[in-house]
Amino acid sequence: MPSPTLPAPLRGVTKQLNRSITQALGLTEAVTLRRTDPTSVDAPLTAGPVLVIGQGEDADAVAHHLHDAHLDVRRNLAAPTQQRWGAVVVVLTDLDAPGEEAERVLALGATLRELARCARVVTISRAVGEGDAPATAAARAGVSGLVRSLGKELRQGATANGIELAAGVAVTDPAALGTLRFLLSARSAFVDGQLLPVTGPGRAPADWTRPLVGSVVVVTGAARGIGAETVRVLARDGAHVLGVDVPAAGEALAHVMNEVGGVALQLDITSPDAGERLLERVARGPFNGRLDVLVHNAGILRDKLLANMRPEQWEPVIAVNLAAQVAVTTAVAQAHPGLVQVSLASTSGIAGNRGQTNYGFSKAGVIGATQAWAPVLAAGGGRANAVAPGFIETEMTASIPTMQREISRRVSSLGQGGKPVDVAEAVAFLASPQAGGINGAVLRVCGQNLVGR
Ligand code: NAD
Repeated sequence: MPSPTLPAPLRGVTKQLNRSITQALGLTEAVTLRRTDPTSVDAPLTAGPVLVIGQGEDADAVAHHLHDAHLDVRRNLAAPTQQRWGAVVVVLTDLDAPGEEAERVLALGATLRELARCARVVTISRAVGEGDAPATAAARAGVSGLVRSLGKELRQGATANGIELAAGVAVTDPAALGTLRFLLSARSAFVDGQLLPVTGPGRAPADWTRPLVGSVVVVTGAARGIGAETVRVLARDGAHVLGVDVPAAGEALAHVMNEVGGVALQLDITSPDAGERLLERVARGPFNGRLDVLVHNAGILRDKLLANMRPEQWEPVIAVNLAAQVAVTTAVAQAHPGLVQVSLASTSGIAGNRGQTNYGFSKAGVIGATQAWAPVLAAGGGRANAVAPGFIETEMTASIPTMQREISRRVSSLGQGGKPVDVAEAVAFLASPQAGGINGAVLRVCGQNLVGR
């Protein structure tokens, strides 16, 4: 359904409403976020110089890598500077007991008034591991509370995120450095307050600016919204894309796929032979049997309070958003056991949302299925991850009542809704080889919704 344009007097009321909600709740004023262009890879990685806080081998290695990526990297803050930091990276991989973090965290604190607009704070630490001593586990777990709280303190579009390395993963592994690049860049504009678990080494792409060159990617629900933008970003990153959508959206789908030189397939993913039809299409040219990545993006809303819910609202939501994903991957993974899968979940599937018991079931189910597929696909060299968007401005969310929509925009640390490109960039990152060390994870793209974890 197209987004209705409000008449001028109503737009004034909406602006006033925005201001009142922001002031009453002490929420963040929205600023224009530093975003990527879905068709160009030219943007510099950060919005200014990068400060790396930490001593020792790991901090040195991170600084060297960022220097090699042509960033202006600084190590010491001997005296107050006139800098506007594009990013501050805090290396905490050596924490063994609470208290050891203090000097570095307080040094970070001293830089926060010098952050550039849309700056990045990224911590790199170790995940709590089985058999960790209580003091070690305490210090490692503490980092997540630091990151999530700092995300709520930063202003002007700046974000705080963390990378949690599993035992055996080095800071120099492509997955650790690839995740760092994603979190530093404009690609993660709407990712905030998140800790990304890196459990394997990953693989460095031949070209960091086009990491998907040569890959074949299928995107469902590709005719509009997040799906259409995902197609554009994947194509920009070098992928050859097969876009799928229902026949009723055939014209819009053809338009999107023509834009990127991809291929359109009109297919309802709930049809019993959907998996076979996909396989049959990739078996032919120009794909010639190759299928590397499957993006389960197609989804629908049929919101109702459960007391008023009818089968026509419950059943299609579960069928499209969840059952079809499981059935299609079951068929496709048999033929392509090294499949990389990225599924669209939602923060409603994590925190719940009033009026969305059906949608919440489907999206929590997507997270469950992702965690179950992760080891299965890993056995063939593949992976399964989910992206959980918060409130993203699309035709789907344009159908939400005005007041609820305004509140949804406001209750995030970034004080605004996200854009389809924000989700598309997260999907493309998880699809790429440098995210090869991330498996079974859920990456929230929600501007740190104040709801849920
Ligand atoms: P959208 O409604 O704009 O686009 C969804 C696309 O899926 C449409 O082109 C539609 O035709 C297609 N589709 C629906 N049923 C299909 C079927 N049976 N077979 C094939 N294609 C089908 O939605 P969007 O806002 O771009 O959302 C995309 C995904 O992101 C969905 O899974 C949604 O649940 C999820 N999501 C969106 C938001 C948000 O705020 N927009 C938040 C959280 C999660």
